[in-house]
Amino acid sequence: MSAFKLQTGSKLRCKGWRQEALLRLSENVLAVGEAPERLVVYAALGKAARDWPSYRAMVDALLNLEEDQTLIVQSGKPIGVLKTHSAAPMVIMANCNMIGQWATAENFYALEKKNLICWGGLTAGDWQYIGSQGVIQGTYEIFSRIAERNFDNDLRGRFILTAGLGGMGGAQPLAGRMANAAILTVEVNEESMQKRLKNGFLERRVDTLDEAMALINGAVAKREPISVGLLGNAADVYPEILARGIVPDIVTDQTAAHDLVYGYVPSGYTLEQWRAKRETDIPGLMQDARNAIVVHVRAMLGFLDKGAVVFDNGNLIRTHAKQGGVERAFEMPIFTEAFLRPLFARAIGPFRWIALSNDPDDIRKIDDLLLERFPSNRIVSNWVRLARQYVPFEGLPARIAWLGHGERTELALEVNRMVRDGELSAPIAFTRDHLDAGAMAHPNIMTENMRDGSDAIADWPLLNAMINCSSCADLVAIHSGGGGYSGYMTSAGVTIVADGSVAAEQRLDLSLTNDTTSGVLRYADAGYDDSLDEVSRRSIGRIDTNDARYKVPIAFEMP
Ligand code: NAD
Repeated sequence: MSAFKLQTGSKLRCKGWRQEALLRLSENVLAVGEAPERLVVYAALGKAARDWPSYRAMVDALLNLEEDQTLIVQSGKPIGVLKTHSAAPMVIMANCNMIGQWATAENFYALEKKNLICWGGLTAGDWQYIGSQGVIQGTYEIFSRIAERNFDNDLRGRFILTAGLGGMGGAQPLAGRMANAAILTVEVNEESMQKRLKNGFLERRVDTLDEAMALINGAVAKREPISVGLLGNAADVYPEILARGIVPDIVTDQTAAHDLVYGYVPSGYTLEQWRAKRETDIPGLMQDARNAIVVHVRAMLGFLDKGAVVFDNGNLIRTHAKQGGVERAFEMPIFTEAFLRPLFARAIGPFRWIALSNDPDDIRKIDDLLLERFPSNRIVSNWVRLARQYVPFEGLPARIAWLGHGERTELALEVNRMVRDGELSAPIAFTRDHLDAGAMAHPNIMTENMRDGSDAIADWPLLNAMINCSSCADLVAIHSGGGGYSGYMTSAGVTIVADGSVAAEQRLDLSLTNDTTSGVLRYADAGYDDSLDEVSRRSIGRIDTNDARYKVPIAFEMP
């Protein structure tokens, strides 16, 4: 494998900044990814490209792409460059979309083995991943909502139990610490643990539950924050904690439980045995993983029964437990519905920007701008101050902040001006998580228990992608689930580059405004009062088919 060095600074290799930005982002997801040699970015099997020939061909295409051309990518493989026009997206992608009745984990693994498909995760395949920092504010906001609701707005002296220190799960110890809690994360893979210790997301590592509990109990007694990683299997450790009569205040899990083959290590397996079994007996491995998840979730329900705040953090662990016979699995709520839906209803969600220069000062200047522009936005100003203090940059310097409709456009247009006036050292790329108001249908995560029962309708993210294409975004992607997520979700991703030009100003204005508009419309259609309020306060052009004017049928007569 040839090593690559991230291109930074203001020197271009491509024919324009839009292409160069997308190329740098594709390099960045690998630089901060979990297993770049296999093109795996995060979530067990979320890949940046189908295989190395596909990746190299995409690089080649981006290097040669003209302003009026569009690169087409199908499940991580470039399939062609078409003549379009200079306002069209530079890249469009469709990753891992299978026909409904065929969209099962088994079919995905078979197609994946034939190298016909590749799962892009949410932000891996469309080159938007920024490392564990990408999910950290979401995790922090969840802990903060629980603090407000259950613990007098204070997690000092509180014990959080969780598992998984991978690409996304690795954000948990730092988020817990930032919320002032004592957080224990169980992780089965020594390498994942070391990575989080090295990048500053985790403070302490121990090998036994006794050592772990001594550190946690000590911190709880002193009401001091601490993050501890315990090397072990969650399916063994959770029941052991329960058996000892210890009840954490908050319990969740972020192992890659969505994937029974590549993601969740069943108890009793070494990592070598686990990887070997994958090559010889996929059905047997899936069964063992499901059995371990059953034990793991039964322990989580045990904590729930004893009064802990327990929730699913978006890894489909309840779904697999239910399939394994745990009838009560869905008594644990999903984090989106339990804690974040009022934000999504106003299209407030995880918005990100990345300094293509690699200069951290560019991000600091945008932090200052945020604090100055949105002083009354308590969530954002609190977050930016904390992030500055605690969150280390990974790869290209980046920031995430939960901004909503109108705010994202306002920030991006001002940043575009700063690029134009030379206040920032190079262009900035704007993107957002797929887990955003208008961008995801996932009946067991994002859209569980929607007010109108529209949980499984995938029209919304598909419309979102089309809206972003017609709003001239630079990259637009439609993703669906791979591995255990197969058949469970559809989502859309978007990236727009602020290169300081007038054309960028138009692209940012249209895409960012229409992207969040689609989120407000989605929740307004489902009947959320916050969204309806947003529609009227911001004069969003919503059509309400319940309006009395539309109730009268039209009789057509032949002329
Ligand atoms: P990852 O594959 O990078 O890491 C998963 C980690 O879990 C690995 O380090 C693995 O060793 C560990 N693990 C697996 N089985 C274990 C077990 N039995 N006990 C202890 N540790 C075990 O995945 P990731 O990117 O960290 O994502 C984790 C999960 O969170 C995935 O299911 C992902 O889809 C989901 N996710 C949720 C959100 C959200 O917004 N809530 C966002 C992104 C990802």
